[in-house]
Amino acid sequence: MTARDTDNGNGSDESRRIARAVLPEGLRRETLAVRTALAPSQHGENSEALFLSSGFVQPDSATMARRFANSEDFTYGRTSNPTVRSLEARIAALEGMEAAIATGTGMSAILLLGMGLLKAGDHVICSRSVFGSTINLFAKEFGKFGVRTSFVSQTDLAEWRAALEPATKLLFAETPTNPLTDVCDIRALADIAHDAGALLAVDNSFCSPALQRPAEHGADIVMHSGTKYLDGQGRVMAGSLAGTEKLMKDVFGPVMRTAGMTLAPFNAWVILKGMETLDIRMRAQSANALQVAQWLEQQAAVARVHYPGLASHPQHALAMRQQSGLGGALVSFDLRGTSSEVARANAFHVIDSTRVLSIATNLGDTKSIITHPATTSHGRLTEDQRRAAGIGQGLVRLAVGLEHPLDVVDDLQRGLSTLNT
Ligand SMILES: *Cc1c(COP(=O)(O)O)cnc(C)c1O
Repeated sequence: MTARDTDNGNGSDESRRIARAVLPEGLRRETLAVRTALAPSQHGENSEALFLSSGFVQPDSATMARRFANSEDFTYGRTSNPTVRSLEARIAALEGMEAAIATGTGMSAILLLGMGLLKAGDHVICSRSVFGSTINLFAKEFGKFGVRTSFVSQTDLAEWRAALEPATKLLFAETPTNPLTDVCDIRALADIAHDAGALLAVDNSFCSPALQRPAEHGADIVMHSGTKYLDGQGRVMAGSLAGTEKLMKDVFGPVMRTAGMTLAPFNAWVILKGMETLDIRMRAQSANALQVAQWLEQQAAVARVHYPGLASHPQHALAMRQQSGLGGALVSFDLRGTSSEVARANAFHVIDSTRVLSIATNLGDTKSIITHPATTSHGRLTEDQRRAAGIGQGLVRLAVGLEHPLDVVDDLQRGLSTLNT
C-alpha cells in the first residue's frame, strides 16, 4: 500500500539482492515509474508477477488471526493482493505521497473518497466543470445520504470561498477539466480548504503524475481514473486514491475492505506495466496535442480552441507552472454555427468525416479519440447543468494519441474543409 513498502515478506536476502527490491533513496520519478513494486518472488522475475488468487494461505492460525485483525500482509482478495499492492506503491511514489489505494474504476475511487470522509449533514464544494459522472455522484448519489454539494466556478476563487460552511469537509477539483481544459490553482484551493479545516482532493486523471503532482501544491488526496493515462493504451478500468498513510490505513482502507470496490489483479498488472511508459507517452502526446491545437486555431470554421498549452488559454501561465510546462493531450474546440442545431450538425460532420481517429468516449489512449461531449460524457446532465459547464452543441473533444500529428490534422481537415456553413 505504501510507496516504501517494497518488501513482500517472503523475499530472501538473496532474491532481494538479485532483483534490487530495496531501492536507494532519492530516485527520480522516471526511475520510480519502472522500479517501484513489492519484492519479487523466489523466482526473481524481472517483470512484476500477476497474482491471480482470491485467498492467501496462512502459516498458522495465530498469524492468520493477527493478519485479519490488522489488515496486514495478504488474506483475502477483496482486502489486498500483491499485484494490486505493487500498483498502489507505484502510484504513491509517482504522486510523491505516502500511500495509495487502488479501486475498480475512477468513479469507485470517488465513491470510496465520499464513503470514507463524509456523513449525513456534511458539505462538499466541487467545481461545476468536473467530469459528468462526478457531478452526478456528488449531487445525486451522495445527496441521497444527506451529503450536500455546492458547485462553483472552476477558476473563480471567490466562489469557492463564498461557498464555505461550517459543515464543509471536502473541496473537490479536477484540473484541467474535461472537456474544456479549464485550469484551477491547486495551491490556492488547498489554502482555502485548510483555512476552513477541510481537505482538498484533486482528480489528476488528465495530467497524470508525469506532468502534475497535486501534493506538491498542497492537495491532501489525489484521485485517478487509471483507465486513462496510467494504463495509457485503452485496455482496462481502474482508479485510485493517494494521500497520507494514516488516511489510507484508518479512513479509506476499512471502507474498501467492507464495501469492496477492489481492483482486479489482472487490471492492476496491466496498469503497472502501462505506468512504465507514462512519462514518455505524456511528453509525446502533449507535443502532438500542441501541434494539432496550433493548427486548429488557424481554421476559419473553428470558433475557439481550448488547450492549456496555447498562449490564448485563459490560465496558460498557471497551467505551465502547474503542469511541468506541458499542456497535456486533451484538446477541445468549438465549431461555428448560427444556432445550436447547426453547431451540432457541424460537430457531427467533422467527427463522422474522420477515417483514422476513433469515435469513442474514452481518452488517455495511444489511439487518438474524438467525441461529442454534449451527447455523450455530458449527455445525462440537464441542459442547464451543461450550459453552466460551458458545453455547447458545437464542442468537439479530441484526446490526442501517438499517431503522427499531421495524420490527425489531415483527418480533421476532411470534415472541416467540407462544412456547409
Ligand atoms: C474517466 C474519468 C473519470 C471516471 O473514471 P472511470 O475509470 O471511467 O470510472 C473521472 N474523472 C475524470 C477526469 C475522467 O476522465
